[in-house]
Amino acid sequence: MKVVVVAGVAGGMSAAARIRRLNEDAEVVVLERGAHVSFANCGLPYHIAGTITDRDKLLLQTPESLRALLNLDVRVGHEVVRILRESKTVVIRDMIADREYEEAYDKLVLSPGASPLLPPLPGIDHERVFTLRNVDDMDRIKAVVDDNAKHAVVVGGGYIGVEMAESLRERGLEIDLVEMADQIMTPLDHEMAKELQNHLCRHGVTLHLGVAAAAFADEADGLRVELQNGKMIHADLVIMAAGVKPESSLARDAGLDLGERGGIKVNAHLQTSDPDIYAAGDAVEVVDEVTGQPAQIPLAGPANRQGRTVGDNICGLDSTYLTTKGTAVVKVFDMTGGATGATEARLKQLGRPYRKLYIHPAGHASYYPGTAPMHVKVIFAPDDGKLLGAQVVGYDGVDKRIDVFATALCAGMTVRDLQHLELAYAPPYGSAKDPVNMAGFVGTNMLDGLVNTWNPEDYPDKTAAGAIVDVRSLDEFDTWHIPGAINIPISSLRKSLGDLDASKPVFVYCKVGFRSYLAQRILAQKGFDVCTLSGGSLTFRNYHDTGICPSETKTPVVNYSEAAPVSHLAPTGNRQVVDLRGLQCPGPIRKLVEVMNALMPGDELQATASDPGFAADAPAWCDSHGHHLISTDQSGAEVAVVIRKGSPVDAEAPDTCSRAKNKKTMVVFSGDLDKVLASFIIANGALSMGSEVTLFFTFWGLNALRKDAPQASGKGLLHRMFGWMMPAGSNRLNLSKMHMMGMGTAMMKHIMKSKNVDSLPQLMQQALEDGVKLVACTMSMDVMGITKDELIDGVEFGGVASFLGESEDANMTLFV
Ligand code: FAD
Repeated sequence: MKVVVVAGVAGGMSAAARIRRLNEDAEVVVLERGAHVSFANCGLPYHIAGTITDRDKLLLQTPESLRALLNLDVRVGHEVVRILRESKTVVIRDMIADREYEEAYDKLVLSPGASPLLPPLPGIDHERVFTLRNVDDMDRIKAVVDDNAKHAVVVGGGYIGVEMAESLRERGLEIDLVEMADQIMTPLDHEMAKELQNHLCRHGVTLHLGVAAAAFADEADGLRVELQNGKMIHADLVIMAAGVKPESSLARDAGLDLGERGGIKVNAHLQTSDPDIYAAGDAVEVVDEVTGQPAQIPLAGPANRQGRTVGDNICGLDSTYLTTKGTAVVKVFDMTGGATGATEARLKQLGRPYRKLYIHPAGHASYYPGTAPMHVKVIFAPDDGKLLGAQVVGYDGVDKRIDVFATALCAGMTVRDLQHLELAYAPPYGSAKDPVNMAGFVGTNMLDGLVNTWNPEDYPDKTAAGAIVDVRSLDEFDTWHIPGAINIPISSLRKSLGDLDASKPVFVYCKVGFRSYLAQRILAQKGFDVCTLSGGSLTFRNYHDTGICPSETKTPVVNYSEAAPVSHLAPTGNRQVVDLRGLQCPGPIRKLVEVMNALMPGDELQATASDPGFAADAPAWCDSHGHHLISTDQSGAEVAVVIRKGSPVDAEAPDTCSRAKNKKTMVVFSGDLDKVLASFIIANGALSMGSEVTLFFTFWGLNALRKDAPQASGKGLLHRMFGWMMPAGSNRLNLSKMHMMGMGTAMMKHIMKSKNVDSLPQLMQQALEDGVKLVACTMSMDVMGITKDELIDGVEFGGVASFLGESEDANMTLFV
């Protein structure tokens, strides 16, 4: 039997090696167009990073070693250009000798992989735009990096993009990661990916989410990357990691059936529509285990296992490849994210029913050093609890949990079954109730009706029907809480039942879901219609993007020592050190409060916690209590902060706190184009310098906020006349001087455009997206007959009191 294999990496080489092991007499020819076979493509980013220092370690075999070990005829630099099915031959281009020849086969194996997607953008063929698929690509990228590159743009936030962002950052480059979707890593749902996004930000990677790369242009010392939103980034190199597409053209040209996603169609024996031709790896279309839908899932594990299955079948064993679960794991600096099965987003898209739970257990016993809470999401069928998917993000022990979930999914287990899994435990490795067991307990409680959950997406619409009750401590509540929530700490809940309206639903929450579960049990037994927030405020904040790293944007690492310099309080020289490691929510903040209470103003506290949420909680707590955060330093899951205790005056008078001072308010009274323009230019500038900005629009200024649309119906004649006489929207405002019947205004707009100055609508849009608060004065609206519907989206409404409240906290107020 003569078997020809295309080509010589994951799937192809697995098939070739298996065939040899099963059949010593078969003639096996492996044709690989690249210069290397059997190389570790998954390791390529790590050689660029410098983690794998020895390049040769990536080259697992050579044609010579494969000849010696397995008696394979491996030919590199040989590309198969055509399959002649009738004569059972392939046409090969020998790229070294520059000739074509034919090779006959009894069985043909196709494993040509997937090629990087290269969207047809201007400048995509620039010599500094790279893709990473093989050793040659790696060498080219590394050469540029070694040549003192300073700045890279990575396009695409999937596995390869994220790994490359990390690797290049490890080499000291400035990194901008551009991702068209509003999140990185779509095998995870967005609230889970958020943790990894935050971590990239903490490591200095600038994320641009929800925006695509639009063009690449040559520039001195590199190239300029233009994003669709008009942003320009200078780079020494660009990594295009925008996804891959199956290399199925050889199969298509030979008339083999392709699937709807363009991959080669195969049966369970991995036979193509021609029984003598088998296919494996990234080029084939697989069946998704959970959805049952055809899928293209380019991963090394499936490719290797499929190669082996192909070998089995060619050698007469009856071997089948089942389904693909998409089990995957990614390293993001010292964090790990993993997923298996379907995401919630995918199930929603397919209209499939599901339930979900979130938990945040520690990677191992919290009293043993070196652990941190992980974020676990489990999705299961609402009727029988069958597992549909799981995602885990955290520090230690993420990979083994995702593998247990993957195994459970393969075995068709339910969420109930997870509680019975007997998993290895000793304090350095796990907990007596492993996170996987915990998921099983929670899921079983949910199926049995012992726990009734609500989810972040229920806020604010569903929760509006009842009361949101935060059962954390007052200190935690003060640090951050869900807007509209009331605080009844769990310790006083039993005494406060009378404060709750028993006729309305109660939505309880805490930080991770444990205290609120206790609260839910208390309230349910007292007859309340109560549910507990799954995953607590940790998941809620990720879902609603209230973490440190906003979407679409420059999100540099927050350096609190700069943002909040110590003000008038001189240090006393007394510094206390406290170890909060191992404490789980709300332990770190509670202990911090306790120790701070015992200190004098000016004393300093150095605290180290292993709860990653502490990185966001500690600064917020300092802000709300008038203390000064001197530094924050994150290393892995551990966060070390130094805080100087403020005086009681600091706490009461927020204007002594640099963060409160860093607020600007403006009253936009004028409806003149130039004045409104100036307001927004100042607002955007102040925002980029770290200020919070509120613009309060009153009288003529309101016209800038109007939509360019017909007036709302039902107005009186006077108000309608007002509406007709006033400019409707930012595009219709006139210059205060030199309007000259519209000529002056048009000239001004023309000049601004030619000088690349953003128009007023663009400035307003940018301001809104970046978080400038636009408040319309309700009193003026009333007087001028302007309704809420007539104003652009994103505007808030308030009276004089809300303006005064804002300006009291501000260190600058302008009247325009
Ligand atoms: P490949 O391994 O890509 O091999 C295909 C080979 O076919 C190529 O060498 C190509 O040159 C050759 N070829 C194509 N057409 C022809 C032709 N006509 N004639 C001759 N030769 C031809 N997966 C994971 O699970 N985990 C990871 O961490 C991971 N990291 C990755 C990192 C990088 C940088 C890359 C590029 C991939 C990574 N992957 C990872 C994906 C994984 O490598 C692939 O899923 C797997 O290699 C697919 O195997 P394959 O045999 O289908 O294709």
